[in-house]
Amino acid sequence: MHQATNRHKTTCCYCGVGCGIVVQQESNGQLTVEGDKSHPSSRGMLCSKGMNLHYTVMDQSDRLLYPQMRMNRSMPLQRVSWDAALERTAAVFKTLVEKHGPDSVAFYVSGQCLTEEYYLVNKLIKGFIGSNNIDTNSRLCMSSAVVGYKLSLGEDAVPVCYDDIEEADVFFVQGANPAWCHPIIWRRIEARKEANPNVKIISVDPRLTDTGRASDLHLPIRPGTDITLNYAIGRVLIEEKYLDEEFIIDHTDGFTEYREQVMARTVEEAADLCGITAADIRQAAEWIGRSKGFLSLWTMGMNQSVVGVSKNLSLINLHLITGRIGTPGNGPFSLTGQPNAMGGREVGGLANILPAHRDVTNAAHRTEMEKFWQGPVKIAEKPGLTATEMFQAMDDDKLKAIWIINTNPLVSMPDVNSVERALKKGRFVVVQDVSSRADTVAMADVVLPAAAWLEKEGTMTNAERRITYLPKILEAPGEALPDAEIIWRFAQKMGFGDRFNYKNAAEVYDEYVQTTTDTTLDITGLSHEILRRQRSVQWPQRMDAAVGKASVATPRLFADRKFFTPNQRAQIRTAPDGNASEPTDTDFPLVLTTGRVRDQWHTMTKTGRVAKLNQHIPEPFLQINPQDAAERDINTGQLVTVQGRRGEVRVKAQLSDDVRQGVCFLPMHWGKILHSTLGRTNNLTNSLVDPRSKEPDYKFTAVQVELYQKP
Ligand code: SF4
Repeated sequence: MHQATNRHKTTCCYCGVGCGIVVQQESNGQLTVEGDKSHPSSRGMLCSKGMNLHYTVMDQSDRLLYPQMRMNRSMPLQRVSWDAALERTAAVFKTLVEKHGPDSVAFYVSGQCLTEEYYLVNKLIKGFIGSNNIDTNSRLCMSSAVVGYKLSLGEDAVPVCYDDIEEADVFFVQGANPAWCHPIIWRRIEARKEANPNVKIISVDPRLTDTGRASDLHLPIRPGTDITLNYAIGRVLIEEKYLDEEFIIDHTDGFTEYREQVMARTVEEAADLCGITAADIRQAAEWIGRSKGFLSLWTMGMNQSVVGVSKNLSLINLHLITGRIGTPGNGPFSLTGQPNAMGGREVGGLANILPAHRDVTNAAHRTEMEKFWQGPVKIAEKPGLTATEMFQAMDDDKLKAIWIINTNPLVSMPDVNSVERALKKGRFVVVQDVSSRADTVAMADVVLPAAAWLEKEGTMTNAERRITYLPKILEAPGEALPDAEIIWRFAQKMGFGDRFNYKNAAEVYDEYVQTTTDTTLDITGLSHEILRRQRSVQWPQRMDAAVGKASVATPRLFADRKFFTPNQRAQIRTAPDGNASEPTDTDFPLVLTTGRVRDQWHTMTKTGRVAKLNQHIPEPFLQINPQDAAERDINTGQLVTVQGRRGEVRVKAQLSDDVRQGVCFLPMHWGKILHSTLGRTNNLTNSLVDPRSKEPDYKFTAVQVELYQKP
């Protein structure tokens, strides 16, 4: 029995739920983790991924330990010093910027970066290099929700908090499987239902998942028909007089156009298009209409769509016409996929925004940040390249260099064969990561070893706007460095040392906090020091100068019915309810959707190392409806080829009525390193994006499936 020497409170680094974790370090160096009972988001609960997080830092077998580089791609990577790696990278970046302009370089970062890291990269590229070419893998999961919130509520701001779960009596879960992907939020929903049997859960998903199985009503709609469904529910709410007319008149614009739109189609016509019954649509609307607390929750089924923004708006509208927002148990709740996707947006870590949700296209906002940063360049007026645009630009030789931080686009990007081609063509690729398991490392000219979870300090913001502080608990192995330090050291090599002269992440945070002064996400009442003491706070939390102390944090927004739009009224926005995904035809008649399995995370660079997690679902599979399988003489366990217009995948079939006829499903996680014979799921997906959010259409790919024939 080893005596415990250290207990530290921190936050899980997987999903956006942001559960509190207590890490215990034994005298022999072994780590254990348990749920933090005092953490308000998770109350001591952890899911399978969180419970096994310590294994990801204890197993160092695949860690990147030293900077490496090569002078050309035919050479192997070789160990070099930090100075050599950063000086060469700085020299290449300077040369490219001088020769081809600032937009010839880009940073592609991750929702797993800490807020301070995001802030520094954003400051460097926008304020000092002079390009807006920074984007993040959050573009692939959340950007449709961001635009939806901005257009309807005036700001990228989740209006609810987790405590609303215990106040709601109808949960409308659309395009999400929280039972597997946000398990601790789901456990709170289950507990709410156990405590009150009148609580209803409605699940909308072409697949029957564990979420659907536990729901009172599962609506297995055809992929791409979410807007039609939500308009039909809106129509029933209008017809059955479940509206909050006072709220609509006093606090919204756009209801007349909305009514015209939803009345254009009968509920029966909508049901036909969605492939469900009109009775089920009416039932869902009745439960929503009668509820006192109506909480809608959604993720990728809504966001990862060529019409993702319109899908988001169609759902938010159900709250606006019923006035179910800003009061306990009510509101539209976009579930964040990654642990710090929200923090990244707060500091402006997307191609179109600046710190504190400022906009790069707004001249006043640019001027504010130019004055604040005092960089040598003006901030570019035009938004930078978004995630998919970066790799397209590299393929076209317009983008010459890319620096990829803590993300693995060679598995995760849509139409990934084109991304591989682009990275091969790119003149200079820097990969900054923790693990050599990231397939993208193989494409790098320079590899920079990053510190992992527990090995660096900083902050993250979870899905309910809750900011937590993560302490440094362990020393990083080898020469790995915190990501923030890598960036400020690089900025110094670029000649920006006087404005990147930080001693620690707390100084970076203090600087970022100043940028939030008098904005909607004002956190001038916060610092690392305060967060260390308070553990977590929901923004905004202003410094109240009159009394010299911080204001009370804000769990729920819009309680005063004043929205963040210029006229303080919420905007009910309507759009046509069609889908613009790639069409199916006789060659590619099935719709492929992709997603997660319970115990894996993204491209498995962390969870793939944990034996316990790999036991749940050890290999990829194609879920296909038995009728579609019978038409192709396919049985469970047989190897099939999934063919699309851009590539193919070989995988074992799993016949299941859980997926509706005409639809099939592949998990997204496995890449070439982990499953070399399979082919990556994203060989199949396409590069179509929502025109407003630039989020890819992962949930709708036309494919054919056939029994694999040995060549
Ligand atoms: Fe971590 Fe998310 Fe699981 Fe919580 S629900 S333990 S944040 S993976």
